[in-house]
Amino acid sequence: MSTTVLPSYEDAVARYEPVIGLETHVELGTNTKMFCGCPTAFGAEPNTQVCPVCLALPGSLPVANRAAIEATIRIGLALNCSIASWCRMARKNYFYPDMPKNFQTSQYDEPLCVDGYVDVEIDGETIRIGIERVHLEEDTGKTLHVGGATGRIHGATESLVDYNRAGIPLVEIVTKPVPGIGARAPEVARAYVTELRDIVRSLGVSDVRMEQGSLRCDVNTSLNKPGAPWGTRTETKNVNSLRSVERAVRSEIIRQAALLDDGVRIIQETRHFQEDTGDTRPGRSKEEATDYRYFPEPDLVPMAPDPAWVESLRQSLPERPSVRRARLRELWVISEAEMSSVVNAGAVELIEETIAAGASPAGARKWWMGELARRANETGVELSAVGATPVQVAQLQSLVDGGKLNDKLARAVLEGVVAGEGDPEAVMAARGLGVVSDTGALTAAVDEAIAANPDIAAKIRDGKVAAAGALVGAVMKTTRGQADAKTVRELILARLSN
Ligand SMILES: [Zn+2]
Repeated sequence: MSTTVLPSYEDAVARYEPVIGLETHVELGTNTKMFCGCPTAFGAEPNTQVCPVCLALPGSLPVANRAAIEATIRIGLALNCSIASWCRMARKNYFYPDMPKNFQTSQYDEPLCVDGYVDVEIDGETIRIGIERVHLEEDTGKTLHVGGATGRIHGATESLVDYNRAGIPLVEIVTKPVPGIGARAPEVARAYVTELRDIVRSLGVSDVRMEQGSLRCDVNTSLNKPGAPWGTRTETKNVNSLRSVERAVRSEIIRQAALLDDGVRIIQETRHFQEDTGDTRPGRSKEEATDYRYFPEPDLVPMAPDPAWVESLRQSLPERPSVRRARLRELWVISEAEMSSVVNAGAVELIEETIAAGASPAGARKWWMGELARRANETGVELSAVGATPVQVAQLQSLVDGGKLNDKLARAVLEGVVAGEGDPEAVMAARGLGVVSDTGALTAAVDEAIAANPDIAAKIRDGKVAAAGALVGAVMKTTRGQADAKTVRELILARLSN
C-alpha cells in the first residue's frame, strides 16, 4: 500500500481534469408495488407487506403497475427525454439474499426514456447535464445484521431479511459523462442532484428523501491529464445527503490524483463514502454488464405507451422548479440567497398558501422563516408539520396589520396556535392577549407613569418631546406589553401639553 501524501484539492484539479457521472435511484411513491398489489408504506413490521409474487414463489406471475410506468414517463418528460414507443423489462441476474427471485426485473438495452438533459446554474452560468437514460426497475429487500457493533456483517451473530421493500418501483436516472467542469465538479454534482430532487418532488411521484433512502445517489469520478483520454472511473455508492455528494467527488479527485502522481493505475471499482471521515473506501471490483446475463423478461408483455397519452402527460407537467423559483423571487421581491433558504427550509408552498390566504409576501415569509422555522428546528420536525397552518399564519399577520397585535404579542399568540389552542383570535381571547388601544383603559396607566416619573414629565412639559419614550416604556411594562404604543404616546403628550 502506498504511503502517498495527498495533494491539496487545488493542486489536484490544476494537474488533472475530472469527469463525473451520476446514477440516481428514486423510489416511487405508488400505493402498491411494481408487479403485485402489496402496499408500500414505510416502517411496517418486517415481512408483513409481501405476497407470492414479490417473494417469487413458484408459479407466481408479475403484472406491471401502470401508475409506476406513468410516473417514470413523467420524470423522463420533465428531464427533456424522448419516450420509447416500445420497450421491455429485462432480467438482471445475480444472487443476493435480499432478492428472492435471484434476478432483478429491470431494464437494459430498451429503457423507457432516453437522451434528455437538466440545466443547473452555478454562479450565474448555466451548465447542461446530459441524461443518458431513465428506466424502471424494482427495489430489493433489506438485510439486517444483528449483534455486531455497527450493523455491518462483521461481528454480527445473525442476519435477518425483510422483504417489505422488495418489489417497490424504483426509477434509475443516469447522466451522460460530464467533462469540462474542472474544479467545479463537486459543486456541479451537488447542484444536479438538488435540481433533480426538486424536479421529481414537483411531479409529486416520490417524497425524494435522501435520509430515508427514497433518493439514493451513486457518483462516478475519473481523472485525466489535460488533452488525454478519459481515465478509469470509480463508483461511489449510496451517498445519502447533498453535502455528501459534494464531499464524495472532492475526496475521490484528491485520492485518484495522488495515485496518478505515483504512476499507479486506477482500478474500476465500487467505493463506499465514509460519512465520518469524508473519504471513500474500496468495495467490490465493479462488474461488467455481461456478468449479469441480461435477457428480456419473458413473464411481462412489452410496454408501448400510446403517443396521445404521453403527449397528455407532457401537457400536464408542472412548472419547472427553476422557472417557478425565479417567478416567485420576483413576485416576493427577495434575493437569490433568500430564495435558497426558503427552498431549503421547505417553505415555498407554505409561503405561497399563506399569501393566497391574504398575507403580504413579506409578512408570510417573516413567520415561516423566522419563528416557525426556529421551532421546527428545535423540535426536529418538518416545517409543514410544525403545528400552524398557512391560513392561521395569514390570520395572525392580519391581526398585526390591523393593530390588534404587536410583534411581541403575535409571537405569544403563535405559541398558542402551535400548541393546538386554536386559531389566532381564539388564542387571543383565551389568553387575554391583544393590543389595548382604548384610551379609557389606558389613561389610568398613563397617569400612573406620569406620577411615578415627575422629572421626565417636567422635561416633556418643557418641550423635550423625545423624553416621552421613557414614559411609553413604563406604560408598556405595567400593561405587560399590551398597550398600543402609538395611542400611549399621544395620551402622554396630550396630558403634558399644558
Ligand atoms: Zn407482493
